[in-house]
Amino acid sequence: MRHTGMDTDVVIAGAGPTGLMLACELRLAGVEVMVVERLGERTGESRAGGMHSRTLEVLDQRGVLDRFLALGKPERVGHFSGLYLEFDESESRHPFPLTILQPVVERLLEEWAAELGLRVRRSSEVIGVHQDETGVTVELGTPRAAPATVRARYLVGCDGGRSTVRKLSDIDFPGTPATMTSLIGDVELPDLPEDYVWGRRGEGGHYSAIAFEPGWHRVITSEYDHITDHDEPATFEQLRESLIRLIGTDYGMRCPRWVSRFNDTARQAAQYRKGRVLLAGDAAHIHFPAGGQGLNMGVQDAVNLGWKLGSVIRGEAPERLLDSYHTERHPVAEGVLRNTRAQAALSRPDAQTEALREVFASLIVFDDVNRYLRDMLTALGIRYPADGDHPLTGRRVPNADLKTPNGTTRVYELLHAARPVLLDLRGSAAVAATAEGWGDRVDLVEARSEDNHWTVPAVGEIAAPAALLIRPDGHVAWATVRGTPDTTTLQTALTTWFGPRLGRGRRHPR
Ligand SMILES: Cc1cc2nc3c(=O)[nH]c(=O)nc-3n(C[C@H](O)[C@H](O)[C@H](O)COP(=O)(O)OP(=O)(O)OC[C@H]3O[C@@H](n4cnc5c(N)ncnc54)[C@H](O)[C@@H]3O)c2cc1C
Repeated sequence: MRHTGMDTDVVIAGAGPTGLMLACELRLAGVEVMVVERLGERTGESRAGGMHSRTLEVLDQRGVLDRFLALGKPERVGHFSGLYLEFDESESRHPFPLTILQPVVERLLEEWAAELGLRVRRSSEVIGVHQDETGVTVELGTPRAAPATVRARYLVGCDGGRSTVRKLSDIDFPGTPATMTSLIGDVELPDLPEDYVWGRRGEGGHYSAIAFEPGWHRVITSEYDHITDHDEPATFEQLRESLIRLIGTDYGMRCPRWVSRFNDTARQAAQYRKGRVLLAGDAAHIHFPAGGQGLNMGVQDAVNLGWKLGSVIRGEAPERLLDSYHTERHPVAEGVLRNTRAQAALSRPDAQTEALREVFASLIVFDDVNRYLRDMLTALGIRYPADGDHPLTGRRVPNADLKTPNGTTRVYELLHAARPVLLDLRGSAAVAATAEGWGDRVDLVEARSEDNHWTVPAVGEIAAPAALLIRPDGHVAWATVRGTPDTTTLQTALTTWFGPRLGRGRRHPR
């Protein structure tokens, strides 16, 4: 839905997992998108090794999960600071971390984006950002041509931890500096003992070697109070020396495919939105990659932002809806920064931390502690600030089995089109009458829940609601247990999230 004088509705800087997911969400929302990527081709850097339950669920909500499951490997356990956590009791249809390397995730997202009509504009680097009241002018540098400008209504910086968009927009990035250095490499380890499991703690830090693919291990060494220049390229020799310093052997390490360096610097953008510029993914938050949460959080930022931006661009919701992106997602990253700082601290190689770790290890085996940490790492426990006292409001909707006049279905199948759904489970005339006012934007679905009770992470078992309003990102905007509900609160929720009801004879463009 392009406006006069605009080249596109939204420019997305960066074709990492966050930018690609956002591009797909915006295409589903019917708006025009241009994704610009500095690199000429995708790197082979393996980086993120997997995805957690909530990310698998959001892919399920869009009907593309099977592609990821086909190329990944479900794991039964995860960890908090290297201490095992059980995942298989989680209240999700996908109760496992899925091992799948980041380049595979990016390839699958880019293929989906192409199906939605989008091609990434590669070798295009954002080098200038100028916003005014009506739009953003984005200056693009290319290797062999003069800089070009593109005009869009919004710019979203998904350009990683060193985000140019964030810097050019003068958005503060406060946080805490590194206390350690980690080296990472995908290598062959011919001398690794056959009974080797996970990793070990040494005097100056710790290391792990995880079998990612047949014949290949991901080796990570972490040395505390040993800070190196993060801009200096990491080398295979440094990785080998670090492992020898920690445990006295390199296990015959050879054939490096990729070597890199990271640390526990933890920073977060002070504002996720500054006028027409927004930030998502690593551009908005960086932290120690313990527990594998970064890629997940970026994908979920994108799913929170996409439908809101789409709705504002289509002229349905007022621009202030975009502020809820910061209100909802900033605290989520704050929590992840907190838990990754805790994980880094719990790994320090001194006697006091070792004692603390032993206490923690004896607590983590309790079901409640395991569940608490699991809901945190998987992001299943998130509740966005919400009006209404029903326990589902603000939380992600469970993927319950439903019976409809046309057969059986699941709640997430109703979300494939990324449109809001008003799910009426008791056939209320009042709900149907209210839905008419938003009939162009909100899909009314009448069904019956197969189960009388739904299980909700961090809450437990609740009675299946009588009706609920589900946002396109799968979070519940309104819910009731009453078969004849008070529709005033429903109307307020519809207006808050999807804009004012249609006037007589007026239809919003789609
Ligand atoms: C060792 C390691 C292990 C990790 N393990 C996990 C894990 O198991 N699970 C997990 O969830 N996360 C993990 N992470 C974190 C994860 O890799 C990141 O959180 C994720 O890559 C963030 O995605 P993104 O799209 O926000 O940013 P990025 O992946 O950094 O993508 C940003 C893109 O923007 C491009 N770009 C940069 N500047 C510009 C510009 N000016 N103009 C245009 N394009 C630009 C870049 O080339 C890049 O393609 C790990 C990270 C590391 C380092």
